[in-house]
This record gives sequence, C-alpha cells and structure tokens, in this order.
Amino acid sequence: MWLYKPSGLDMVRRRDLAGFSHYQVTGELLRNVSEVMQVTEIEVGSALHELKRRGLPYKYDLNIYRGCTNGCKYCYAVKSHSYLGLESFNQEVVVKTNIADRLEKELSSTNWKKEIINIGGVCDSYQALEKQYQLMRQVLKVMIKYKNPIIISTKSDLILRDLDLLDELAGHTYVNAALSITSADENIAKMVEPGASSPYLRFKALREIDKTKAYTGFHLMPILPFLADDEATLETLVSWAAEAKADYMLTGMLYLTGGIKSRYLSFIKQYYPEYFASYSTLYPKGGADKDYKSKVHGYLSKMRLKYNVNNRYSKFLPK
Ligand code: SF4
Repeated sequence: MWLYKPSGLDMVRRRDLAGFSHYQVTGELLRNVSEVMQVTEIEVGSALHELKRRGLPYKYDLNIYRGCTNGCKYCYAVKSHSYLGLESFNQEVVVKTNIADRLEKELSSTNWKKEIINIGGVCDSYQALEKQYQLMRQVLKVMIKYKNPIIISTKSDLILRDLDLLDELAGHTYVNAALSITSADENIAKMVEPGASSPYLRFKALREIDKTKAYTGFHLMPILPFLADDEATLETLVSWAAEAKADYMLTGMLYLTGGIKSRYLSFIKQYYPEYFASYSTLYPKGGADKDYKSKVHGYLSKMRLKYNVNNRYSKFLPK
C-alpha cells in the first residue's frame, strides 16, 4: 500500500493504482514509461495560482496535475515536486480532481477580471493520465462559460480530443495553443521525452489546431545540443512551423541549472556517451557557451526568414 500525505494540500482520498498500468501503458502516450506508477487524487482549495514573476503575458497558472509522465530528461519542474514529499516526478502524479469546480468558483467571483490563465505551466495538462481523467475538458467548459482567455502548451496530441472546445472558446476570447517540439527524430524524442507523443504526431496536432480559431505556437524549447541542433534538424523544425501555419515560433536554449545538470548529464553519459565531454565543455555553468548560442540563434533567424515564420507572440495578445 502506498502511504504518504503531501504537505500543504488537502488530501481527502488516496488510491493505489498499481493496476492502473494495465490500461494506460498499452496506450501510445505512455510508451517507454515504467509500468508502475502511483496516482494520488486530491481536492484543492483553489484552482488558480497567482504568479509572483512579472513580465509574462499572464498572471495566473492552472495545473491539473503535479508530476508529469512525459519524463523529459531536461525537466525544470522536477524540483517543484520535492516540496510535496514525492520522489519521482514522472511516476508519482497528483491529480486535482475538483479543479473545474474550484475554477468555476473563482471565475464567477465579481473580483475576477478575466485575466489570461496559463494552463499547465508546471506539468503537461495532456499527459497520459488526462486520457483517463478528462479534467481538461471540464476546465475548458468552465473557460467557455466565463469566456476566459487562456494559453496552453503541450507535448501531446491528446489535445486534439478537445479541438471542439478550443475552437468554441476561441470564438469568444483569446486562445493560444502551442505544441512543444524539440526534435524531428522519433528515436531521439523517445529517449529524451519518453512519455510524450512522437514529434510527428505533435506537428500533426499543430496542423489540426490551426483549423480552429485559436492562435497556434510552435515551441522549439529547449534546443538540444548535439542531439537536435544540427542545421538539417533545425531547418526541418522551422519548416514544420511554417507548414503547420503556426502564428509564431518560440525557440530557447537548454539550461542546466541546479539539479537538472547532474540529472541530464548522467542521462547523456549513459545513453549518448560520445557527447558527454562536449556537453561538459559547452556547459561550464548552467548556460551554454556564448558562441554556440549566437551560432544557433543566427542560423534560426536565417531559417525563419526563409520560411517566413514569425517569432513574436505578443502581437496576438488581447489589448
Ligand atoms: S512536459 Fe514539461 S513538466 Fe512534463 S516532464 Fe516534460 S518538461 Fe517536465
């Protein structure tokens, strides 16, 4: 039996879902993720989290899940898990089962100013468990009821399940849906982001979302040195953004700060030992070497011009 009580949260139920793997692991979304995963259902006091950080196009975050089965080797959010007393970010996931009810309460308040809500800033809202829980559908229905603007980014083509709701919401207000794609190579993606949809499925999902009224984004973040930073790969990804008619494409470097560095480098050492020494040279600290960054940025700018891909999402933001 699995026993723990996450601190700082009101836990009312606990389930041991060892048998859960029987129906989830066979699905496309959980490929390569361990068959044993533990899920804790909780009820939360509020759905929205006000961010302290300014300079973002949104002030509020909504995360349905804590923990993420996508299992990205560079995941920056792993740290946020430890305060819950959980060890494995990818295999111990907390589900906020009453999140839509709480959201409704918050959006119906006369104090709420219809601020943009960023959905899934810490964990992917369309990760494998969402297939079962369908909480995003509930959340989107609440957003539609209150015509509340949203931003969402995912690595899963499960977002296509909710195309109807995204389209309906985008008919009322600002909706920005982005797919995060870091490589064009299925094998690399399987290694680096084992629980996410394949890059091609993500690209196809973006193409489908373009048919709705939502704005679409292509997030090439982080750029993966030596694995997916060669000119041919970067050109393919920019051409995908153009082909999917993404309204914008954001790119970002890989940062190896704090605990991410040792975790990521031990992954490289184990699975790509030929690049280990190069990574150590490229990352004397948390950020990549300056010359490397300007070379990659320079090449991406050239490709954006070639494929006419915009890199500014701010121009689509509601006034
Ligand atoms: S999708 Fe985001 S939160 Fe999930 S494992 Fe990958 S980087 Fe972490």
